[in-house]
Amino acid sequence: MFEQLQDPPFVAIRQGIQRFVDEELRPMERELGLDAESPLPVEVLRKVWRRSAALGYYAACLPQALGGKGLGILEQCALKADLAASGCALAPHVLGDLGGPPRVGNMLKHATPEQLERYFLPVIRGERSTCFALTEPHSGSDVMSIRTRAVSDGDDLVITGHKHYISGAPFADFAIVMCVTDPETTPPAITAVLVDLDLPGVTVSHEYVPMSGQHIDADIVMDQVRVPRSCVLGGLGRGFALGMSRINVNRLLHCPSMLGLADRAYRMSLDYAGQRRQFGGPIARFQAIQHMLADMAAALWACESMIAQTAMLADAGGDLRMKAAACKLFVSERCFEIADKAVQIHGNVGVTRGHPVERTFRLLRMFRVFTGTSEIQRNTIAKAILEPASPAA
Ligand SMILES: Cc1cc2nc3c(=O)[nH]c(=O)nc-3n(C[C@H](O)[C@H](O)[C@H](O)COP(=O)(O)OP(=O)(O)OC[C@H]3O[C@@H](n4cnc5c(N)ncnc54)[C@H](O)[C@@H]3O)c2cc1C
Repeated sequence: MFEQLQDPPFVAIRQGIQRFVDEELRPMERELGLDAESPLPVEVLRKVWRRSAALGYYAACLPQALGGKGLGILEQCALKADLAASGCALAPHVLGDLGGPPRVGNMLKHATPEQLERYFLPVIRGERSTCFALTEPHSGSDVMSIRTRAVSDGDDLVITGHKHYISGAPFADFAIVMCVTDPETTPPAITAVLVDLDLPGVTVSHEYVPMSGQHIDADIVMDQVRVPRSCVLGGLGRGFALGMSRINVNRLLHCPSMLGLADRAYRMSLDYAGQRRQFGGPIARFQAIQHMLADMAAALWACESMIAQTAMLADAGGDLRMKAAACKLFVSERCFEIADKAVQIHGNVGVTRGHPVERTFRLLRMFRVFTGTSEIQRNTIAKAILEPASPAA
């Protein structure tokens, strides 16, 4: 995947990450008996984050001035696809996808020097972990309907609310919490606040498990949690703009993870079709199986090409709104179809709980819901293509 990236320093990073996965993470997983559905002990994660930071990979997406390697979006896509295709449970932690530098990326430029020192630089060094908390039990796609309130009290804000299904919350040290600071305005003023998760009044609970079987999401309940005003990120009432500033790139950066997962399912299917014998020979000789493999290969190529084009547009500073939504919609739906075909080619093996293609099928299904459902992506695309033609435009 992304074979066009042949710049020697980048190739060295790519190979180094592959070695890190093969020579350090896989043995660690074997030794600790971890798989994609095991609860991951936070001490193990901290060890991975710090080791990845020491090797120079953890913050690779950030500019060099912040300790990163200044990688472009296309380069990040290639690394994320490789990591997802590795099938290694600890792989998402190499680049800090679940609580590290990519979670804060765009927001860093809004941080005060004090916030950088106390919150963000420790994240970049792999010492602390964060999460982004917007969704609430009654507020999903309709983000402006959030009810978590932050009320001014002297030099503090007092926060009460419930955030739901927050990735990385089970092992995060602090959350970037979206709160309503003025419900009277239209739309209500939403503010991003940094909330330490060990403060009095905060409860992190993870009583549910998504269909992927992973233990990486949790709810954050805040009851009269007092934080100093200095924890406001980007200014009062600026939270929605801040959240939206990361949404397009975020949508795009989910795509290589889906591609890597689907690519692995395809490769396993190719192998299986060559080995599994029925009616006196390998199932790969049946045209029905060949057509499924051909459809999978064609869809993978379409997804990779679309991701690369959109990533190059992002690297050139182009307008991503329609194209990131189109990319997330297309890639999530095609990759799920690839996983479905992989299950079919594997027969009873593929429907067996815990088999890698069965797991991939469940995991890829979820991508059609988070970071904007398929319907919300279609709404965004429709708005972008219809607005220029509308009488009001
Ligand atoms: C694994 C996972 C991880 C997540 N991580 C995070 C996180 O880190 N931080 C965070 O803040 N949130 C997170 N979320 C929440 C996620 O962003 C929401 O689940 C998502 O935005 C959809 O909201 P909802 O689930 O409440 O569905 P709803 O908004 O209730 O939607 C239900 C159905 O109605 C459809 N629908 C809703 N509105 C419209 C509309 N206007 N037009 C057409 N159809 C519509 C939807 O497409 C969907 O089919 C995560 C969710 C999951 C499952």
